[in-house]
Amino acid sequence: MFDSMSFRAAFSSVINSDFVYFDNAATAQKPDCMVKALSDYYGSALGSAGRGQNPLSEKASAAYAAARRSVMRFIGAAKPSEIIFTTGATDSLNMLAASYRRRLTKKSNIVISALEHNANYLPWKNACEEAGAELRIIELLADGSLDMDAARRLIDENTLLLSVTAASNLTGRLTDVRALCDMAHEAGAAAAVDASQYVPHIAPDVNVFDCDYLVFSAHKVYGPEGLGVLYCRESLLDTLAPFRYGGGMAEEHGGNIIPLPSPERFEAGTHHVAGAVAFAATLDFLSGFDAGEKLAYTRSLSDYVYSSLSAGRGINFIGHSRENLPVLSLTFEGVSPSDIDLMLSMRGFCLRSGKHCAFLPVSRLAAGGTLRISIAPYNTPDEAEKLVFAIAEAKEYLLRKKI
Ligand code: PMP
Repeated sequence: MFDSMSFRAAFSSVINSDFVYFDNAATAQKPDCMVKALSDYYGSALGSAGRGQNPLSEKASAAYAAARRSVMRFIGAAKPSEIIFTTGATDSLNMLAASYRRRLTKKSNIVISALEHNANYLPWKNACEEAGAELRIIELLADGSLDMDAARRLIDENTLLLSVTAASNLTGRLTDVRALCDMAHEAGAAAAVDASQYVPHIAPDVNVFDCDYLVFSAHKVYGPEGLGVLYCRESLLDTLAPFRYGGGMAEEHGGNIIPLPSPERFEAGTHHVAGAVAFAATLDFLSGFDAGEKLAYTRSLSDYVYSSLSAGRGINFIGHSRENLPVLSLTFEGVSPSDIDLMLSMRGFCLRSGKHCAFLPVSRLAAGGTLRISIAPYNTPDEAEKLVFAIAEAKEYLLRKKI
């Protein structure tokens, strides 16, 4: 069984906090081992990775390469060259969109879904607008799931790429990534997966998804800020032009500048070695826990919050399903989510209200925005109970004030 207390014990920032943290879909708290790895690197091991032959440079290069191999194993990639370090999921998706922008024509289209975070919407919208191409959006069914029949109709021989989220940051809804990737491939298109919300709960496997690209940010999976991943299937690496030009990405032969192979080709400039090393420490920590048991635990907290609050009147759960990841989005009859958020903030709860940078799903499911509760394995049943009580109380108080 998942040992939630030993998981929680690894997070001093949680144990020593005066706050109750339920904003995990925005960013996760950090385990002590990750903070230590960051500080150890800066404190005693810093060198310029990929540059120079001095001992610290070589040590940093080796640590950076080892971190890349850790990420490769984490997502089931075949080769380190398939792992490109970026500054985050947003960066990864912008890089991909910039590359696809060059290939888009007026005839072609990109397909995304109505569950996307803006990071997997706006780069494609912009690229399609610039190229005069079409951006197609797979709509939602009434329950907040993707309309897979619509997906089948939208993905056609003019689709260059399908880019879909594996899980919604608004509702925690999981998508059938494999079925969507299969549809893309059958139509001759490539398939990209935004795994930003998926990775904190389920270890992604690029072979199971059969995706061509996969992106996520380290900070959502207990790693450092400023580090992200763009996985690219080996056979497609050469089809991507360098995204950035500068130091460390090319060689010079007789006046000719020749880009290096991946990953150097895509990682111009000084690397975030500290971040990569610290992320490897995070992944090592996570490997000590069974992902399935971890998810069963967080889902049990999510079930508790759902069943307790949905029993009362005037609270709606948006796009909820028991199979979702433990992310709950709520609206209230007669009370705005941000007022509840504000009241809970004053009582030490960290939640999030508003549109969650998810214009597409929020406009379809809850135009006025929602209050989001996102649960991590260091959260406890006691915290969930206090949260339920505080939300119900805040709602009643705000309603009474209106009368
Ligand atoms: N995709 C999804 C589904 C997200 O939830 C987020 C962050 N909220 C992002 C992409 C962007 O991540 P970042 O801001 O770390 O680049």
